[in-house]
Amino acid sequence: MPVLTRLIPSPVVVDIRAGALDDLAGVLADERISRSGRLAVAVSGGSGARLRERLAGSMPGATWFEVGGGTLDDAVRLAAEMRAGRFEAVVGLGGGKIIDCAKFAAARVGLPLVAVPTNLAHDGLCSPVATLDNDAGRGSYGVPNPIAVVIDLDVIAQAPAKFVRAGIGDAVSNISAIADWELANRVKGEKIDGLAAAIARQAGEAVLRHPGGIGDTGFLQVLAEALVLSGIAMSVSGDSRPSSGACHEINHAFDLLFPTRAAAHGEQCGLGAAFAMYLRGAHEESAHMARVLRRHGLPVLAQEIGFTVEEFVRAVEYAPETRPGRYTILEHLALTPEQIKDTYADYVKAIGS
Ligand SMILES: [Zn+2]
Repeated sequence: MPVLTRLIPSPVVVDIRAGALDDLAGVLADERISRSGRLAVAVSGGSGARLRERLAGSMPGATWFEVGGGTLDDAVRLAAEMRAGRFEAVVGLGGGKIIDCAKFAAARVGLPLVAVPTNLAHDGLCSPVATLDNDAGRGSYGVPNPIAVVIDLDVIAQAPAKFVRAGIGDAVSNISAIADWELANRVKGEKIDGLAAAIARQAGEAVLRHPGGIGDTGFLQVLAEALVLSGIAMSVSGDSRPSSGACHEINHAFDLLFPTRAAAHGEQCGLGAAFAMYLRGAHEESAHMARVLRRHGLPVLAQEIGFTVEEFVRAVEYAPETRPGRYTILEHLALTPEQIKDTYADYVKAIGS
């Protein structure tokens, strides 16, 4: 008999709403996650202490681990510490660095991960990838998808605005990433996973077209759901293709060329996406994207994240090197530095100031 449907790797619990943290203990007690309550909870030293104070009483069987930062060493150390206990699940409670460390450590010790992000800076909160700093700069490590995702919109509303805004850039960049995937399909015959593309595109479009802003819960709900769906799209396709194209290559280039000056991932991806849309000749879409990013206070020009035009040109030129084998509008056009500079000048004119 032919296979009629496929199973989608996805979390067993997705709880996104105001006040969700109050019921975290209940989610964790789900027997599919933890029967005995023996949980390893990874938190940051700073804001993690407050969360620990708030939640420790409702999670008596939990052991709390303070995570230093977002490096591969931090993640390996965390895994080694966790190995000593007999835990049933790992809970990553905090910002992107904590979630990434917890993801990596959970994969290493063979335990499921519950992601409890406290900001919405990027779509890594529910993706099968952990991004960690290593000796060579920054690396992406394949890990299983989280078993549960709990996002408390009251907690998100208290996060620094910068870390919530950045997620808008990452979500919206899906639209450019999908256009790159379609280009690779047309030119190179690369297979598109239609379901993964649909999920990622709808997530990006919902954020792009939502009239609200980070000050209202309705918008935060859509943004959080979009970032979770982006992660699931990546699980469906088995790689980062649905959410990562030229936009992300430009972002990686900034990270690698200017490691000490790089801006937030989502800020760089949003700028990269608006420019990539312009490069592919989608001028109206590019201008619309730039308008929306601006409305949310996100950068759309190199100078707005502290880079000169020359540095931006260098990043765009270098970008294809960051993802060998990924075909995007950058590889397709293979522009010279002169051409990148000219096109950027046109883009700046087109989006207006
Ligand atoms: Zn991203």
